[in-house]
Amino acid sequence: MGGRVCRAFGGHDRIDLPLARFRWPGIHAGWPRILPNSGVAVPTKMKIHEYQAKEILAKYGVAVPRGEVANTLEEANDVARKLFSEGASGVVVKAQIHAGGRGKGGGVKVARTREDAELYAKNILGMQLVTHQTGPQGQKVQRLLIEETAAIDRELYLGIVLDRASGKLVFMASQAGGMEIEEVAAKDPTAIFKETIDPAVGFGAWQARKLAFALGLKPTQINAAVAFLQSLYKAYIDTDASLVEINPFITTKDDKLFALDAKITFDDNALFRHPAIKALRDTAEEDPLEVEASKYALNYIKLDGSIACMVNGAGLAMATMDIIQYAGGSPANFLDVGGGATQEQIEHAFEILLSDSHVKAIFINIFGGILRVDRLATGVVAAARKLHVTVPIVLRLEGTNVEEGRKILAESGLNFQVGETMKDAAELVVKAASSH
Ligand code: GDP
Ligand code: MN
Repeated sequence: MGGRVCRAFGGHDRIDLPLARFRWPGIHAGWPRILPNSGVAVPTKMKIHEYQAKEILAKYGVAVPRGEVANTLEEANDVARKLFSEGASGVVVKAQIHAGGRGKGGGVKVARTREDAELYAKNILGMQLVTHQTGPQGQKVQRLLIEETAAIDRELYLGIVLDRASGKLVFMASQAGGMEIEEVAAKDPTAIFKETIDPAVGFGAWQARKLAFALGLKPTQINAAVAFLQSLYKAYIDTDASLVEINPFITTKDDKLFALDAKITFDDNALFRHPAIKALRDTAEEDPLEVEASKYALNYIKLDGSIACMVNGAGLAMATMDIIQYAGGSPANFLDVGGGATQEQIEHAFEILLSDSHVKAIFINIFGGILRVDRLATGVVAAARKLHVTVPIVLRLEGTNVEEGRKILAESGLNFQVGETMKDAAELVVKAASSH
């Protein structure tokens, strides 16, 4: 199972490990979700910024460098001044965006003087930071983390993820930290050590020791490393995280250990019991259409193609995306309106689909079960009228009351095309999109 991955859904350090990779959107909140055959990795687990992750980890006793977040240049200067006056030999200015690869993209700079810190802060704040996880349009930097620099000796890697195949957490560690761990996993999987955690027993001290030794740490560092790993595990469990990743996990010249970078994502399904974590959500970092969709409980993920899809059920939505590609087109989105979509939801779904300027045609593929086809047809007609839809709409309908549904569409006077089978409909919509 490969890491066929499409950028826009970036933000995850995608680790190409033999973990279960295929997930069904909307059903599980696993990490990272890959839509079969669509080449798309989809993160919907709530992400937070590095500075927020470090604040959480610090509460669990994980050592993080001294530092503070800054929303303005003035605040950045204040933090830098404070760190230098407290004896820092340098500060690092770090862009806070929900994507990795910031270092390579120019979003992480080490300054030896206050003047340099100001210069870097000025350059990075407000910049459109492009990394391998943001896509070519980049992500606007709205805040910085200013931290005391560490005298790095070694850059290592630590990560905890859920392996869905075994239903257990896996604690990973590698000596090849700092760089893109996906590359390490692809080129030399043996460079990543793994400990599978028995849920009944938890993460054993013996396992932490095993990983610490595998990291080649000095005897004087082992005990601190064991405590460090155990703290990470406790933070993961307590916060219902779906991923905790420290890359790099560093040793310093004076034998200390620090989380120099930190990433945590959370299981959305558990957020209800963590209001404080839920409040850390930064919708400015998310796709605006996805934020809009989440307000109406629509499972929407924006993609790069030109054919909008409206489908009920995650499995059917994935099959629809596949068949669009098979017919030579490309989906503009994943959208599951759910088993019992209401008229209102259908209307909002239309609005969201139509606000994507790349959309050239809409493919509505519904199997009427709980959602009766006549009800859907009425909703579609009403929404198309209200929103003055001009792009072609192709439907493929099956299920309860399908005849009534088709009649409603035919009698609406609107320009709908109905495909007999999924394949016919996919071919129709690809044709409509290319000629529109
Ligand atoms: P990412 O590129 O988004 O993963 O951002 P990181 O926080 O991992 O930073 C990228 C790289 O910048 C790290 O791998 C380090 O090599 C370097 N870096 C980050 N903080 C410091 C620091 O305090 N001192 C030094 N010398 N390098 C740092
Ligand atoms: Mn990193």
